[in-house]
Amino acid sequence: MSLNDNTTDGEVRRVRIREVGPRDGFQNEPETIATPDKIRLINALGRAGFDRIEVASFVRPDVIPQLSDGVEVLRGIDVPEDTARMVLVPNSRGLDNALAVRELFEEVALFVSASQTHNQRNINRSVEETMADVKEMGGRIVAEELTFCAVIATSFGCPYEGKVSMDRVLGLAEDFAAVGATEIGFGDTTGMANPAYAARFFRTALERLPGVEVTAHFHNTRGQGLANAYAALEAGCTSFESSFGELGGCPVPAGSTGNIATEDLVSMFHEMGVRTGLDLDQVIVAARQAQAVLGRKLTSHSIVAGPVLWPPDRR
Ligand code: ZN
Repeated sequence: MSLNDNTTDGEVRRVRIREVGPRDGFQNEPETIATPDKIRLINALGRAGFDRIEVASFVRPDVIPQLSDGVEVLRGIDVPEDTARMVLVPNSRGLDNALAVRELFEEVALFVSASQTHNQRNINRSVEETMADVKEMGGRIVAEELTFCAVIATSFGCPYEGKVSMDRVLGLAEDFAAVGATEIGFGDTTGMANPAYAARFFRTALERLPGVEVTAHFHNTRGQGLANAYAALEAGCTSFESSFGELGGCPVPAGSTGNIATEDLVSMFHEMGVRTGLDLDQVIVAARQAQAVLGRKLTSHSIVAGPVLWPPDRR
């Protein structure tokens, strides 16, 4: 056994990581990235071995102009057959537009904020109004035999309301599951989680949501993203989302970082002996390409340091 194996009881741990940079990341970039550049970056991610990439969103182009070329991007990319392409849909109109190009993706994400104020400011509707629509939209997604994923933003705290009760968040998750969601992602939208709470949260979530894939989506706003991911892993979570180059992810307050960086998360897992199925070198290649496209330094650690290279006798 090598030094960096973490194979307790001979059991190899495996996790799944969805790359969300092309949506969650690009959406929050101040610059608009040219469509061919987006396509090139997503193709580079495809070569890293992701089985799931969030590619586009069907929000109104006047609201998020950065993602107005979603259909073009979906049509232009060339990712491996077994890479599921996810799209984010904000409302029924968005779902209509998405289903018009039904053949271009396999997974649909619907979202709500656990906090009333955040939901209102984000999509100008109450949580109750949003959840009423989720029922109808979920039925259509299931009928189309698409994978129905739900995302609950501000699951670990709200910048306006502060603490958000675990019971409220998991109640919303159960509502999503009841209308057909098979995966529920819990987003730490502005980086308010801590490892102790994250562990408690994911232990409880996994208990309360049997048969549902429970996904951790942490932000590194206050530098605790990886610690939270580790805590979630230890609590039994095996599904994560992250963004290459630490791109985007709701940088509130302005200037702070957002999503945890995929390459840092993968590096940590690999060093722990946790399998991701990903080629870390290729993730870093994609992140460096993004850096070149954006023309500024990105903030992930692995982009600077590269992967851990053990001397031959310590491999
Ligand atoms: Zn995010």
